Amino acid sequence: PVEVFDLVIFGGTGDLARRKILPGLYRRFLAGQLPEGMRIIGAARTDFDDAGYRSFVNDAICEFVKPSKHDKERIKEFVENIHYLAVDAMGESGWTELAALMRPGVIRAFYFSVAPRLFGPLAERLHEYEIADADSRIVVEKPFGRDLETAKALNGVLAESFDEHQIYRIDHYLGKETVQNLMAVRFGNVLFEPLWNSQYVDHIQITVAESVGVGGRGSYYDKSGAIRDMVQNHLMQLLCLIAMEPPSDFEPDAVRDEKLKVIRALDPVDQADIVRGQYRGDDDVASYLEDAENEDSTTESFIAMKLGISNWRWKGTPIYLRTGKRLRDRTSEIAVVFKDPPHSIFGPQEGRRGNVLVIRLQPNEGMNLRVTIKEPGPGGMRLIEVPLDMSFAEALADGDDIPDAYERLIMDVMRGNQTLFMRGDEVEAAWAWTDPIIEAWEKARTKPVPYDAGSSGPDDSLMLLHRDGRRWREIK
Ligand code: NAD
Repeated sequence: PVEVFDLVIFGGTGDLARRKILPGLYRRFLAGQLPEGMRIIGAARTDFDDAGYRSFVNDAICEFVKPSKHDKERIKEFVENIHYLAVDAMGESGWTELAALMRPGVIRAFYFSVAPRLFGPLAERLHEYEIADADSRIVVEKPFGRDLETAKALNGVLAESFDEHQIYRIDHYLGKETVQNLMAVRFGNVLFEPLWNSQYVDHIQITVAESVGVGGRGSYYDKSGAIRDMVQNHLMQLLCLIAMEPPSDFEPDAVRDEKLKVIRALDPVDQADIVRGQYRGDDDVASYLEDAENEDSTTESFIAMKLGISNWRWKGTPIYLRTGKRLRDRTSEIAVVFKDPPHSIFGPQEGRRGNVLVIRLQPNEGMNLRVTIKEPGPGGMRLIEVPLDMSFAEALADGDDIPDAYERLIMDVMRGNQTLFMRGDEVEAAWAWTDPIIEAWEKARTKPVPYDAGSSGPDDSLMLLHRDGRRWREIK
């Protein structure tokens, strides 16, 4: 277990708290990781008392935690640690009461699970009412700004009340088992690292495909689009972990320094290397324009791009990113595609594809290395590719129990470990790289190209690789 804590969840009645944070905390409780005496305090605008909020939490657990884990007694034990206080982030009500609730000598963490415009006011009030102490932590949700200027302003506001070591900017992709395993595989083996450079890696593909549309959050999404919603944060973080130099140790700043260097080494992107798309509707699903309730929208629900990194390790190895909504399937993966051997002693081999290391984030977190072997049997030296497969669910004893990204990250907050959280300068560097791309679209008034719902995105995105003699892995 971690040390005794008080965790205040601002926005404790919201969607994220209900679906992820509270169920995740309950699973950590079942795993015996939450200390005796800890408290979870929901804080939002709704007028709940403790009993009302406990019943809300009970319902969230029943809805979002697997039924096999529903033990009435355990849930009851868990919710006894739960309290509620009505607090207004923009006003003065509730703050004196919250200050009075705090206990000396107990770790205090404040989760900002509210709309971003409330991040600043919350930080200010925590400071003003002396609710936060020097060891307190704040957890800040996405989105962290919408460009460099707003991100800097937000960093500035938070810095008035908190030191950088107290600020935990969440990118839940970093809490995924596979993402951490990526570092274990790269830096815990001797097998991969010598090949991890432009001499041996032909190219890298990062795909985050979703089958759902923007649905209920259409009008929110329409203001950001795929580049702000996915690329600037999640895909950029994955790219950093794939491309960074080995840090000297696993300390938070050692890792984050290396990630930052990757972002700073990214080449500016040529508009010809970007494809933006917007999904069409069909008989079953609404189009993006309908979902966004904006028939003139030029926001992209899909983006594919080719990137270059100007450093000794990666110069010459393109990185292709793509992400979108309403695609064929829900898949997130990173594929490191290696070059062919310098010479084939077996003569030309029809359709042979080289080694690929696939790091799968969802579904079925795991890794898979494609290697070439001889086709078994008497048919001569014919080569085939087979996967060396490692699915984490199978490899772990209680396989279906891989902790959710949020629960892992919340535990890291309690431990005071910032390795898997974005530092302020990282976020700013990522915006500094994204801003000119967006400005160029705005200036040229470019429009996204339409693509069919349930497809792999616009054909132009296939061309992005075809013209380089490469092709995307299938979305499945
Ligand atoms: P939500 O709208 O469902 O919940 C918002 C919460 O904020 C509610 O509990 C509400 O009572 C509270 N609130 C609103 N105004 C308040 C005020 N003045 N004072 C105090 N509390 C107030 O939002 P959500 O979907 O839970 O999202 C919360 C945050 O998490 C947002 O920053 C969002 O971008 C981020 N996020 C959400 C998801 C998700 O899946 N829902 C995923 C990633 C990031």
